[in-house]
Amino acid sequence: MTSYEVVVIVVPGIMRRRWIQNLNRCADEYLDGIEDFIEFAHTHNPGATRICCPCRRCNNTLWETIENVGFHLVRNGMIETYSIWNLHGEQLDNASSSSASRVDNIQPIVDPNEQVMDIINDAFPFA
Ligand SMILES: [Zn+2]
Repeated sequence: MTSYEVVVIVVPGIMRRRWIQNLNRCADEYLDGIEDFIEFAHTHNPGATRICCPCRRCNNTLWETIENVGFHLVRNGMIETYSIWNLHGEQLDNASSSSASRVDNIQPIVDPNEQVMDIINDAFPFA
């Protein structure tokens, strides 16, 4: 019943940056996305000479100049799951206002054990 709503939460953030999963790294969508990221990194890390590199080789563990990071991203691609740039200054709460308000509206889920018992009782009323 209400528990189905939970599935929806994560979608907007990921949909917004679908380009990360684009396998064609020459696609305009992909290159635009990288430009977006570089701009984002510049704005959120003012004065930083190096940021951690979210390319698939560095895996957010190595630090590179922003210019190099852009180069890595074109060459190696961005980590597919890194659609919320929390390591580069993005606040999870502000990632998408629509997803944030949805989170607030979610009804508390009933104790899963109780739910299972209900289902069992419904299925086997005479058990
Ligand atoms: Zn890299």
